[in-house]
Amino acid sequence: MSARIVILGAGFGGLYTALAAHRRLGGRAEITLIDRNDYFLYSPLLHQVVSATLQPRHIARPLDRLLPKEVRFVRTTALGVDLDQRMVETETGAFPYDFLVVALGSVPNFYGMTSVQEHAFPFKGLPDALRLRSHLTDQFRAASDDPRRAPDLLRTVITGAGCTGIELVTELHDWMNGPLLRQFPQVPREAVHLMLVEALEYLLCPMDPVLMKRAAQELLTRNIDAQLGTTVRDVGPDAVRLRHGNEEEVEISAGTVVWAAGIKPNPLLKDLPIEFDLRGRIVVNESLQITRYPEALALGDIAAFPDPERGSLAPTAQVAVQQAPVAARVIGAMLEGREPDTFRYKRLGEVVDIGHGSALTEAFGTRFSGAPAWLLGRTIHLAKLPDWGDRATVAWEWAKRSLGVGAG
Ligand SMILES: Cc1cc2nc3c(=O)[nH]c(=O)nc-3n(C[C@H](O)[C@H](O)[C@H](O)COP(=O)(O)OP(=O)(O)OC[C@H]3O[C@@H](n4cnc5c(N)ncnc54)[C@H](O)[C@@H]3O)c2cc1C
Repeated sequence: MSARIVILGAGFGGLYTALAAHRRLGGRAEITLIDRNDYFLYSPLLHQVVSATLQPRHIARPLDRLLPKEVRFVRTTALGVDLDQRMVETETGAFPYDFLVVALGSVPNFYGMTSVQEHAFPFKGLPDALRLRSHLTDQFRAASDDPRRAPDLLRTVITGAGCTGIELVTELHDWMNGPLLRQFPQVPREAVHLMLVEALEYLLCPMDPVLMKRAAQELLTRNIDAQLGTTVRDVGPDAVRLRHGNEEEVEISAGTVVWAAGIKPNPLLKDLPIEFDLRGRIVVNESLQITRYPEALALGDIAAFPDPERGSLAPTAQVAVQQAPVAARVIGAMLEGREPDTFRYKRLGEVVDIGHGSALTEAFGTRFSGAPAWLLGRTIHLAKLPDWGDRATVAWEWAKRSLGVGAG
């Protein structure tokens, strides 16, 4: 009987593990990939769905089209894992396994603030991007009907100045000041107010400090109000309470508050008797195996992989994609009774969009900014999209936007 490999999560870690395991283990294993969604989401371009630069279909690809027919895909929600019985419980039944790969990613972290959870817009999945797009369009519509309310309706607060927050706020800036103002000409231009709020005193994206300085200048040039050293204390339906350093809290009106200030690992396995790091990620060894359960691997955002410099690797797509083929090799080694392979992370660089056809790129041991960085960043994204159809249509959408045709 061939070995049963069950992979939980069809994101960067899970999908690429399924593809690598199929290539490597082919006829020797039955591979089952489980996800609650039937698409793979290329989240690094999610901000472009909010502005309709890209359509959902460009970054959310049907898994059936990406997977070879020998890999079984099951769309269902995983409810738990019994590591001793080697069984995954799902909404549609149990899946026994010989080898398990846990790649369930992360979820937004509201740090226990219920008002934030209730009123802020998370920015993690495709439905989040679509909901934010509709909401902001509605705000413009309401502002157009009653321009006196426009400043309150259109003050938009993005919380968290990591790479995601910077990309989102600059994309929103271009969209709101361009296509949305053209669509709603009654709205006074000066009513559009974008704030980027960050608890730390600096922009958080892990890039070269020179590039981060450039990012800060770009925000200033665009009139994006970067409030560093400021925490969100409370969010209401149309206001946000902020605290700058040790100063008194202030409440300001805000038609929209987006939460891009933190993630935590998917909590599905949190009650199992295995080791977790302080952030709640599953501790794995150098072969991605969970302590005491060598046949169970974890990777991507949910796993804490040891890193000599930072303690453990950051939760990024780059890490998950590089771990995937190693997971397949480790399973292959266990099947053949060999010593399992070990994972070594290679940082390939970073691309951060800053709107206006400009980006910051750190790659190949050098750093770029402006239009060349934008072009290089676009090329890297195109190379990473999982199928050729995507690449052609996405490149076409970007070309149209650069020429000012049909965006927004
Ligand atoms: C807006 C945004 C922009 C980003 N930009 C970048 C970037 O530019 N560069 C970069 O390196 N990283 C970026 N990241 C981070 C990157 O997306 C993650 O690090 C990466 O997706 C982690 O891969 P993963 O496989 O661990 O999890 P994911 O890719 O999130 O996959 C997890 C999968 O598990 C599924 N799932 C979860 N729970 C269940 C359940 N109970 N049952 C069934 N299925 C379930 C989900 O549907 C999902 O498909 C970005 C993230 C976001 C949100």
